[in-house]
Amino acid sequence: MVVVSAVKGVTDMLIELYKTRSEGFYEAIRDIHVRIAKELGVSGIEPLLKELKEALDLPEGPDVLDYYMSFGERLSAAILNGLLRRMGLDSRLFVAPLITDDDFGNAQPLEDDSLAREVDEHEGYAVVTGFIGRTRDGRFTTVGRGGSDYTATFLAKLLGYRRVILVTESPGIMTANPQEVLEAKILPIVAVEEAVEAAKLGAKNFHPRTFEPVTGGMTVEVRNYWSKGTVVGNFYAPPPYKIVVRCGEGSCVVGLEAEEIVKLGGDYVSRYAAKVPMPPKWAHDLFIKPYFEKMLWTS
Ligand code: ASP
Ligand code: MG
Repeated sequence: MVVVSAVKGVTDMLIELYKTRSEGFYEAIRDIHVRIAKELGVSGIEPLLKELKEALDLPEGPDVLDYYMSFGERLSAAILNGLLRRMGLDSRLFVAPLITDDDFGNAQPLEDDSLAREVDEHEGYAVVTGFIGRTRDGRFTTVGRGGSDYTATFLAKLLGYRRVILVTESPGIMTANPQEVLEAKILPIVAVEEAVEAAKLGAKNFHPRTFEPVTGGMTVEVRNYWSKGTVVGNFYAPPPYKIVVRCGEGSCVVGLEAEEIVKLGGDYVSRYAAKVPMPPKWAHDLFIKPYFEKMLWTS
């Protein structure tokens, strides 16, 4: 099963299109996809582009905004499915097999596998749209920005899959934002409790619920195509503190033993995170760097 996100930048463009209803924006979005489809020798996206054009006349409303955003993933998934088929592979497209509540813009997926089962039963490749779901009465919803990863982990849990790979632009989960802390390193393993907390605190622009579905023997690898990346799962992972995230004026330190930092005077954030009144670079020097030597870092 391949869960796809929209082409880079397209979701933001669709939001602009919803706000402005500008023909120019529509054409820009159309041209991006037409060019990619053409380069890959894929046909068949015209009906979707026509549907998007017709949407320019719809009224405003949170459900209409989600409908607009749905085109990003529907177009990219259609292109990927077309490419796999052109390569002679048995691939089928599944649009929004995730059933959600009707909290448009931040919909919660439901434990309802009635549509997802079909994906699972398909023998060949299944190309699935990330980010979007549908209400029980069939309207498109979105699960929140950056939600394709969350869609993938949620579907994996729903279907009992054990291995998820989140292909990102960075080589893995790092000890800090490398733009802020130059020495930040890739973490080879992260306990699921830590990943849940780091995502909630905004690390790496993850959707806040990305790792919530990770239960039992399921593991999630976060990596690009070339790196070994980070494995997230239900295991104890040293060292005690792993990730520093900017938290308002100070920093939040995420780790299985964050409570030790609270004993030293840090503020309690949650069981696995404590806040300290210093910039991320200092917090990283103080709590993460001392373990650099003792760990088998992948890089
Ligand atoms: N395309 C959606 C967004 O831009 C979902 C995602 O990228 O994961 O937020
Ligand atoms: Mg994305």
